[in-house]
Amino acid sequence: MNNDYVCPFCRGHLKVKNSVIFSARKPNGERGIILLSPEIGNYTVRKHSSFSLEDGERIGLYCPICHANLMAQNYNNNLARIISIDEHGEENIILISEIVGERCTYIIDGKKVDRFGEDAMNYFGAGTEF
Ligand SMILES: [Zn+2]
Repeated sequence: MNNDYVCPFCRGHLKVKNSVIFSARKPNGERGIILLSPEIGNYTVRKHSSFSLEDGERIGLYCPICHANLMAQNYNNNLARIISIDEHGEENIILISEIVGERCTYIIDGKKVDRFGEDAMNYFGAGTEF
């Protein structure tokens, strides 16, 4: 899978080489850059050592290009929304957790949600449809 990821607001490309890049803001207002894996289910977070994240805190994720707040208000305020584009040009909404240490990813495909990660049941009960 070699999907591209774009911002839902400016459609700028968030994936560069092997990272999906976000601007992040901690609850105390500190800001930094975090790099996530483009691979669904890989929860590696890369960042500068001076930007420390604590498990359980909610990090606001922003587009590094247009600075839009990516919070997925229509789904859950703990999730951020980006768009994936596959090699056929097909687009899906991807929701990722903004809670540090929470491992869940959702792919919204029409009326169905596909869940990934060991914490996937934290949001969207079984059989959720939109
Ligand atoms: Zn943007």
